[in-house]
Amino acid sequence: MIMYCNKMDQLCNIFIKNLCLYIYMTELIWKCFRCNLSFKDEDVAELHKQISNHSVTKVKTLVV
Ligand SMILES: [Zn+2]
Repeated sequence: MIMYCNKMDQLCNIFIKNLCLYIYMTELIWKCFRCNLSFKDEDVAELHKQISNHSVTKVKTLVV
């Protein structure tokens, strides 16, 4: 029984660790597909949109 609990604990820890990693490594950015530029800041993305008249899309990306 004790061993079983430990195993559950371990599984739980692994799950939480992975979840944190996933949240940490995913980031929302704004991307302009016409110039292939990505912006981390919404203000900058908005500025680019106004200056160049390009459409900027919000995308989720993996950060390594
Ligand atoms: Zn652009």
